[in-house]
Amino acid sequence: MYRLACKSEQIEKSCRKLSCVFPGICENLNTDHSHLIQLYRKARAIPGIKRIQIGSGLRYDLAVKSPEYVKELVQHHVGGYLKIAPEHSEENVLNKMMKPAMTAYDEFKAMFEQFSREAGKEQYLIPYFIAAHPGTTDEDMLNLALWLKRYDFKLDQVQTFTPTPMAMATAMYHSGKNPLRKVTHDSEEVPVPKAGSVRRLHKAFIRYHDPNNWPMLREALKRMGREDLIGSGKKHLIPAWQPIAPRDAVLVNGSRRGGADSAAAGRAGAGRQGAGRQGAGRAGAGNNSAGKSAAGRSSSANAAFTRGGKTGSSSSPQPAVRPARPAHPRPASSKPSGKKPGRPQR
Ligand code: SF4
Repeated sequence: MYRLACKSEQIEKSCRKLSCVFPGICENLNTDHSHLIQLYRKARAIPGIKRIQIGSGLRYDLAVKSPEYVKELVQHHVGGYLKIAPEHSEENVLNKMMKPAMTAYDEFKAMFEQFSREAGKEQYLIPYFIAAHPGTTDEDMLNLALWLKRYDFKLDQVQTFTPTPMAMATAMYHSGKNPLRKVTHDSEEVPVPKAGSVRRLHKAFIRYHDPNNWPMLREALKRMGREDLIGSGKKHLIPAWQPIAPRDAVLVNGSRRGGADSAAAGRAGAGRQGAGRQGAGRAGAGNNSAGKSAAGRSSSANAAFTRGGKTGSSSSPQPAVRPARPAHPRPASSKPSGKKPGRPQR
């Protein structure tokens, strides 16, 4: 937002609006990105500067006002991945966050892909989402999960809302009221997901692809009357079967998985992920070791499951844990060998 400001100092002094960009971009806001474009070009021209990369921090609803800026950014300053923060897919939650609607994200994505294509670059957007923000219901999180599934996003990094000082959302969190409108005793009540179980569920919806979350999600979907989303079809969110936990997995040849082999299988599974998923995985690798290890666990669980000769489907639900093969007792020898102990055998 370099040098983007109100058109008039006089207007700015008397302005009482909470934001220049919410609920829409104010007509008095100067959205000319030419100063920023010039800054980029000057910086690139400095001797000794090889590359300037921008990884995040972009206000994409403002960026789309200047296609020339998006082109400059995408073609010169994105190193494969650009993180942006739609935060949520549902409008009622985005309104509480003072964030733009998803149409702005779609518009920016279209520009990003077009300019990347024109430059002959393979680049990806990595969207960020937040769980358990004040004003979010289980249905909102379910809709977000369905949105992620539709675009085949499998994110490692998930932020769960934490109240911080001086934030509007913190006032919502503690009061249960919406301070973006006049607060009275009968003004809008905001649902606040405070309980640990609800916060975990909201996070699980964003990480719907992690088998560790499937039992919790199955329960929630049944409670919400959305059992139609449990199954192995494209329209389903999570499968009805549960892969074997690595420590319980037993292969056909009898060797037990869960150690180094299993970790290797997990890495291989992660490597097979699609392009968007790779991006998310890569971002997670640097910043969220918990997410990375969770991904590794889920991949290894799947790998063990497949190696066992089963693929798992809703039509043939698998047991939660495959029973181990019975041990075959070694028959006791009835005859003494007749050989002296220690004597070398041929
Ligand atoms: S909200 Fe509009 S009028 Fe107010 S300071 Fe921002 S740009 Fe100016």
